[in-house]
Amino acid sequence: MQLTDLNWPCVQALSKDLPVVFPVAALEQHGGHMPLFTDSMLLGEIIRRAAEKLDDHVLFAPLLWLGNSDHHLDFPGTLSAPPRTYLDLLNGLLENFIQHGFRRLVFINGHGGNDVPGKQTVFEARQRHRDRNDLLLLFATYWQLGGKPWEVDARIQQRQMGHACEWETSMMLRIAPNLVGPLEELDLVEFGNAFEPAARGWITKDRTVPGHIGDPRHATAEKGEALFRVFTDDVIHLLEGVVAWDGKSWNG
Ligand SMILES: [Zn+2]
Repeated sequence: MQLTDLNWPCVQALSKDLPVVFPVAALEQHGGHMPLFTDSMLLGEIIRRAAEKLDDHVLFAPLLWLGNSDHHLDFPGTLSAPPRTYLDLLNGLLENFIQHGFRRLVFINGHGGNDVPGKQTVFEARQRHRDRNDLLLLFATYWQLGGKPWEVDARIQQRQMGHACEWETSMMLRIAPNLVGPLEELDLVEFGNAFEPAARGWITKDRTVPGHIGDPRHATAEKGEALFRVFTDDVIHLLEGVVAWDGKSWNG
């Protein structure tokens, strides 16, 4: 069910146990071979597929394309809500739906820079509403839900999400190959961070000149379809758990 299609009396009449999903992504550079709207297009495809399966059991808000992308601002075309602005924006969206009576609120994320402010948002909202025991506030990034795409398609080489990498380029080749530039001239950009597992402050140009991280030359549309299937199944599984939640307990 799409929020954008409903009128307000319809929303008022909905069960307030219906999960509300906020897809959140970005508009930012994705190397010299991929469009600025990559994260929003890829998450949009995963949400489209999940919504077909989940039908009327979940209410989907429209995808929020403005993300926290300050680290990419050295690359022209990138648009960003600064981190604290973004935190306020997500908190505001949660409060809107809490005010409308909904209790199961889920962010599904498609951009790495949204991860920290997104988790901070659900943390802060729970502290604000600490007298409630009927709220389920979740933030989930689609490629961190446990799926192992390389077990579905053994040709997939990458083992973690990069940037405009084998994974993202493959998915874009699957849905909009006309927007993907030539791959032959690109080079591998290593993920490497000598200080792991420490979290290091970074801007994108610390790590890459062309803008991608990983090796997009291995991308194919067939791998893209496998990636979409794995990530969509993970999102559906999570949301089915939200539908099945007992409405109050930590474990259930
Ligand atoms: Zn991306």
